[in-house]
Amino acid sequence: MSETPSNPQLVLSHPCQLGEGPVWDENTQTLYWVDILAGTIHSWNSVTHQHMHWETKDLIGAVAVCTDGRLLAALQNGLLIFNQETGEKQWLSGPEPNQPSNRFNDGKCDPKGRFWIGSMCVHETTGAGSLYQFTLAGGLQQKIPGITISNGLAWSLDHRTMYFIDTPTYEVWAFDFDLETGSIGNKRVVITIPQSEGYPDGMTIDSEGMLWIAHWDGWQVARWDPNTGNKLHSIHLPVARVTSCCFGGRDWNDLYITTAGTGLSAEAHQEQPLAGCLFVVKNSGYKGFAFTPFQV
Ligand code: CA
Repeated sequence: MSETPSNPQLVLSHPCQLGEGPVWDENTQTLYWVDILAGTIHSWNSVTHQHMHWETKDLIGAVAVCTDGRLLAALQNGLLIFNQETGEKQWLSGPEPNQPSNRFNDGKCDPKGRFWIGSMCVHETTGAGSLYQFTLAGGLQQKIPGITISNGLAWSLDHRTMYFIDTPTYEVWAFDFDLETGSIGNKRVVITIPQSEGYPDGMTIDSEGMLWIAHWDGWQVARWDPNTGNKLHSIHLPVARVTSCCFGGRDWNDLYITTAGTGLSAEAHQEQPLAGCLFVVKNSGYKGFAFTPFQV
């Protein structure tokens, strides 16, 4: 069988319950991601092929790489900076105020190095979550209330638009974004995903400004045009619960994809033995670009 560039390859056979939040560290050519339900931070070094993992003993929504190489981690009990070399944890902020049943979910740094982190109720109660912005100077600031499952985040190449997904809406929203102040406004719907394609989950943006969206229960990562709302390209995965993606590699043209096995029936697990594993599309034909690290 010949292999086309769009074929996802298995990176690691380690099955996450809920693999999520891939982020590429270009300094070490390392991918970080989390297993939200297992409370684990994972790393995979693309040079040495070394896989490492750290237990946080808490639900973990997302990590971001800091300017000094440490990790900002969003746990249910609050935000902390984690030193991968020493295991040292430095707590920065408490949990989301007045929402004991919530946990943090997807999060990412904006082009100015501010961390945006969403939340959701562990019971998926409608409207119980919010999207926050977090900085060391400003703490946790609520930006969008009334979110149900806060997920994908991306910023346009000109830094004037923020894209955001509240999964049960099947929509991608765009906001005017002020890079200097971090304020958002003028919400509009730019993409509506047909329900037959699965739920929109995590998201990244490529060097042409197109959005790559992981489709939960949709067996795919797809490339969408936020200017027209059209689907441009799809990459089929051998697992249904595709959670997020990001570009990495020396030339930013490898697409890393996280997946989940949680909630699948025993029959579905048999059908999808790789559910929860990490995949990559090498030399995808598309490119990402450097993540802005969290400013510490
Ligand atoms: Ca997610």
